[in-house]
Parts: sequence; structure tokens; C-alpha cells
Amino acid sequence: MATFNAFLLFSQAAAYFVVMMGLLRARAAIGIGVFMCALGVMHFLETYLASVFYIELPFGIISPGSTVLFSGKLLMILLLYIREDALVARQPIYGLLIGNFLIVGLVMILRNHETIIVTEGRVPDIEFVDEMGLLMVWGTILLFIDAIAIIVLYERIGDWLGRNLVLRFLICGAVVLTFDQAGFFLALHYISDAPWHVFLGGWVAKMVATVVYTGLFIAYLKFFDDEKKWVTNRPFKDVFQVLTYRERYKELLEASTRDHLTGTLHRRQYDQNAPKILENSLKNKRPLSMLVIDIDHFKQVNDRHGHQAGDKVLTTISQLLTENLRSDDHLYRFGGEEFVLLCEKMPAEAAASMANRLRKTIERFSVIYLPEKVTVSIGVSSAPEDGTVLSDLFQVADRRLYQAKNEGRNRVVAAEPC
Ligand code: GH3
Ligand code: MG
Ligand code: MG
Repeated sequence: MATFNAFLLFSQAAAYFVVMMGLLRARAAIGIGVFMCALGVMHFLETYLASVFYIELPFGIISPGSTVLFSGKLLMILLLYIREDALVARQPIYGLLIGNFLIVGLVMILRNHETIIVTEGRVPDIEFVDEMGLLMVWGTILLFIDAIAIIVLYERIGDWLGRNLVLRFLICGAVVLTFDQAGFFLALHYISDAPWHVFLGGWVAKMVATVVYTGLFIAYLKFFDDEKKWVTNRPFKDVFQVLTYRERYKELLEASTRDHLTGTLHRRQYDQNAPKILENSLKNKRPLSMLVIDIDHFKQVNDRHGHQAGDKVLTTISQLLTENLRSDDHLYRFGGEEFVLLCEKMPAEAAASMANRLRKTIERFSVIYLPEKVTVSIGVSSAPEDGTVLSDLFQVADRRLYQAKNEGRNRVVAAEPC
């Protein structure tokens, strides 16, 4: 009997896997919505089976609902993530969460009906649904955590397991399903006094399910797909941000603080933050330097090559500047083709040599990246010797910048060394 049960379980897993992989594979032709709906609709059977449908195996009593369907669903979400990305995978994760809460909410309204019996012997079992309600809310929250955890863990261990998809799969399944089994069992234990051997039986079953699904996945890769397409190595912190919908907020925040064209901080940020940065440096008796950087003859670049080429010059130069910054430097796009660089903990002589280094870098690399050689002139000032308020520092640096322009451009003017 046990062998037959195991065979039936395997057949369920195989059918589930084959159909879902078919839908995933055909997503370009039929749309990813088909895969997601199929995944979501399995929830009904899964919940029902997990609450009443148990079978006996040599190592304990298990439910096909949580063994085959729940474990399968989690791995399907992971597969969806691998083949698409976090942006797509988060859709069923949130859809399942909200859909489950909606079910519980609707049942709370439904149970107030006065129902009539249409078919003899068929009575709605609201008590059963009530009992399930609490477990379902808990299970749903667990699934939500599981789904995000399995994806983040998959990327995290990817750092050292890299291309070994099988091991990545096995570890993710084992860790997350163990966590899930513990979480779900605790609720089951406190709500309906489930005995401890139910935990063990369910856990062994989920581990076996992980191995079986991984086996099916390997077979799929071997016969139907190219393993290279499945190897991902995305930064897990970014993935987590996307899965928790926080990248929108971050992007918005960034967009409002960063200049649209060059991605550097913009003038408003300078007005807001630069006075504080200066104040801080003075308070801590640390030197601070300011570089005012202006592109030479930029109008001619625009005139000769068009405004778009001019924009490219601006982005390239801000990129070259950004690449050469320390963590204590703050770069602002101050005006059209003028940048201000604030360097904390940097005295005058160091600032002058940094300015020269930046100037040379731009001169050298502009020839490679741009339609013609582009140069910059830079005026440098430092606190406290050139001033202790921001406007004074700017004035001194700006005066030196114009001196640099007058002396022939493509040069740095800083304080005369004493
Ligand atoms: P100088 O060496 O004296 O600095 O000469 P310049 O031509 O660089 O100086 P000027 O201030 O006369 O010209 C700046 C030009 O920058 C004028 C304007 O059309 C252009 N500009 C300002 N913002 C942008 C922008 O966002 N994109 C492009 N393509 N051009 C811009
Ligand atoms: Mg200019
Ligand atoms: Mg200018």
C-alpha cells in the first residue's frame, strides 16, 4: 500500500511539474498570465487536501496538499523568478497573499447568510471554513515569507555555488520548507493540538518532495532546455528590494535628488546639503575643498555636433568625474555645463592635485568617447583659508575658474602655495 501511495504522490508531482513547466516554457506565445492563474487556482485543492486529506507512508502520515502541491508551488515561484526576474515573480507572490486574505474576508460575509438546501444531504460546512480561516491566514503569511526567502536565498548562495543549479535548488528547498513546516506545525499544534509526529512526517515528506522536484527539474534541463539560460547571478539585496516593492520608493527618491540627464546630485541638493557639509567640517576641524568645474567651449560642441551630442558630452564627463570620486566627495550639477564638487577632509594642495587629475582624465578620455576632444577648467577653493561660509567659498572658486578661462582654458587655478 505504501509503495502505491508513493507512486500516486510521484504521479501527482510529475503531472503538476510537467503542466506548469509547459506553461512556463510557452509563456512567450501564450502569456505569463496562464502560468500564474494555473498556479493560483491550485490553491483551492491544496488547502482542502491539507486540512482533511491525509495518507500513510512508512515514515508517517502526510498530506498530498502540503507535500506535493505546496512544495511544488514554492519551487514554481522560484522557477518563474529564475526564468523571468523579481519584477515578474513578485506578482504571484502578492496575488496569492491578497487572494487568500480576500477568501477569508468573503467567508466572513458569506457565513451570515441564511442558506437553503437545494440538494438533499448537501449542507455547507461553515464551521470547517471557520476552523480553516485562522490556519489559512497564517499559512498565507508563511507562504509569502517562504516565497521571498527562497528567491533571496537562491541568489545569496549563488555567490559560492554559482552554476551548480542542483545544489542551489536542493539547499533552498530544504531550508525554506523546513522553516515552513516548523511555522505551520506550531500553528497546527496550538490551534488543533496536532501531535509532534505530524511535524516529522510532514518534514520528511517535504524533503523528499524537494529531492523529487529537483530530479524532475534536472531531467527537464537535460532533455528540453539549456542550462546556461537558467544561471542567474543577481545581487540579492536588489532582488529583495524589488520583491518587497521598495525599489519604486527608492527610484522616486533618487529621481527627485538626482539630475535627470547626468545622474549626479542637482542644484537643489547643493542648496540643501552643502551648507551642512561645510558646517560639519568646520566643527570637526577638518579641511574641505570645493572644485567648480566648467566645460570649455561647450557652446561650440553643441553648435558643431547638435544638442544631443552635447548631452552625451555632459553624461560622459559626469560619469568620468563620478568614477573618480572618493566616498567623501559630493558632485552636483550646478548649472548647464558646470559642476561643483565638494570634497570633505581634503586640504588645498590635495584638492589642486585632484582637480588636475580630473582635468587630465577628461582630456584623455574625451578623445576616446566623444566626437571631439573636450576639456574642462577648474577653480579650487578651500575652507577655512578661503572662507567659512559656502557663498564665500563658491565666489573664490568661481573667480579662479574665470581666471583659468582667461589664461587659456583646460587648466586648474587654485590658491598660490605659500
Ligand atoms: P566657456 O569655455 O567660456 O565655458 O564656453 P562655453 O561655450 O562652455 O560657455 P557658455 O556658458 O557660453 O555656454 C554654455 C552652453 O551650454 C550654452 C548652452 O546651450 C549649453 N547647455 C546648457 N545646458 C545644456 C544641456 O543640458 N545640454 C546641452 N546639450 N547643452 C547645454
Ligand atoms: Mg563652459
Ligand atoms: Mg558655464
